[in-house]
Amino acid sequence: MTSGGATILAGHEPDRTALIAILWEVQREYGYISAEAAAGIADRLGLSVDDVLETATFYHFFHTTPSGRHRIYLSNNVIAKMHGYRQVYEALELETGTRFGGAGSDDFGLFETACIGSSDHEPAMLIDDVVFTDLTPASVGEIIKGLRRGDSAAQIANPAGLPRDDVAYIDALTRTTVHTSGPVFFCGGIDDNALWRRCRAMTPEDVIATISESGLRGLGGAGFPTGKKWKFCRAAAGDEKYIICNADEGEPGTFKDRALLTYSPKQVFVGMAIAAHGVGARHGILYLRAEYTYLRDYLARQLAELRESGVLGDGFDIRIQLGAGAYICGDETALIESCEGKRGTPRLKPPFPVEHGFLGKPTVVNNVETFAAATRIMQEGAGWFAAMGVPRSTGTRLLSVSGDCAAPGIYEVQWGVTLREVLDMIGADDPRAVQISGPSGEMLSVAADADRRLAYDDLSCNGSVMVFNHERDLIDIVGDFMQFFVDESCGICVPCRAGNVLLRQKVGLVAAGRAVRSDLDDMVAWGGIVAHTSRCGLGATSPNPILSTLKKFPDIYAARLREHTGDLLPSFDPEAELSGYAQAVAALAPQESR
Ligand code: SF4
Repeated sequence: MTSGGATILAGHEPDRTALIAILWEVQREYGYISAEAAAGIADRLGLSVDDVLETATFYHFFHTTPSGRHRIYLSNNVIAKMHGYRQVYEALELETGTRFGGAGSDDFGLFETACIGSSDHEPAMLIDDVVFTDLTPASVGEIIKGLRRGDSAAQIANPAGLPRDDVAYIDALTRTTVHTSGPVFFCGGIDDNALWRRCRAMTPEDVIATISESGLRGLGGAGFPTGKKWKFCRAAAGDEKYIICNADEGEPGTFKDRALLTYSPKQVFVGMAIAAHGVGARHGILYLRAEYTYLRDYLARQLAELRESGVLGDGFDIRIQLGAGAYICGDETALIESCEGKRGTPRLKPPFPVEHGFLGKPTVVNNVETFAAATRIMQEGAGWFAAMGVPRSTGTRLLSVSGDCAAPGIYEVQWGVTLREVLDMIGADDPRAVQISGPSGEMLSVAADADRRLAYDDLSCNGSVMVFNHERDLIDIVGDFMQFFVDESCGICVPCRAGNVLLRQKVGLVAAGRAVRSDLDDMVAWGGIVAHTSRCGLGATSPNPILSTLKKFPDIYAARLREHTGDLLPSFDPEAELSGYAQAVAALAPQESR
């Protein structure tokens, strides 16, 4: 490695937990992770080269071949496709002279990526860790022109030169709109230091009891009672304990944690400190998805300010760890593996992280919104929080709203609100279907489900709300969601790795008008197998787009089915099947004639 590479290695402890941070620095310095760099990293960390490459090749944002001086990642989620993604895609190819799928020149590498947490302003892309939103072919032209001129992505996105650790910089990039807020989130008025001192004066048991009495449940989607999780971790044996904040909101359509980290970062960090006091932890990690790297300097400044004010640094501190592009790292055990410098492969449970988590130690993993809510509960009291919402779903939750509506953005709602009330509030435009909780959730029919309530006992919503009007092709959307799961499966178990590919192919047959009734039966049967035999939540929920639309919108499938007549299935294409033989025969023909 060059002297730059040696400096990178020397800047890190020889510890595998540093691997992803090192890979990021090497990637930024050289544009990719070469075999030579992998060997140098392996030597420094006492790993084999294969170990290093096994981790590097798992994550979407690491490259082991040259990837261009400017790496451009265009979000290809369904919301982007509803708002001009194709035109932006073509403009990027035209302006850079590069084709998507790699580095077409020394200057540019073009890549597609799943949701980058900007569904309120699609089409969106990342260039060298900077986000660009509301793209048009014209704006793409200007951006690429600027890069060719030698401007950095940050200079182009931030012509005013705002400091990168200032909230104004984040605002200029993301233009977040919080339409409804309070009483739990975005309400300001928290004296971090006074609240922290009050919580610290309480016994850990009293802190946990307050959280338990509030009824707060994990707001990442699973809804596990937060107080119970903290209690289990406190009771677990271990000389060290950890608090991890899951800021890897990768569910397509979700961006509420980005908004919280922008406008209320200290509320999140104080929540982590309160949890640490409750369980007896000294170390905290903010696992920040790589798509939000542009938040890092700003968050680091917030942490520094909390150290200065005495909330952090005296018995408990927090470091920021970047992900590297992997939806599966939203799973708490995959996230822990990633923190340890490994592939984000979910662990078998039990043991659960509260007993055997980061580095084998008891660990609490909660998401951004949960920690922020915990802070407000400790400020206002358990009864205040429990009085909001409905039984077993207390308090409020944030919604990230996108799609066919007048006002995409962030909304705080009390649990128990009906889908109809949400659609009215956001100005839904001729809504036919609502995908709730992202692709892993459920496709709801507005005609049938409008009076259902957001609550763990009914519509358990993880915060993503995507609205589709009557013009949208729901089969195409289902196909997109299934492709997402194919791309994001970690691949360790067969039902998820292979089953999702087969399910995706079946949706393709339906879309092409080549499916018959038995294909739908196969989808139901195979979807059940994938859901029930996969290791983690990704596989357990990946057939949902198909299963929920088959249930709620059978007409969209029926309209595209073919009658099965004759001996061959419509999906069997004799010409395609025999094309390999035809090519072989054609290749042999000249030899035979000689
Ligand atoms: Fe990996 Fe899928 Fe298995 Fe989860 S279900 S462990 S993502 S292969």
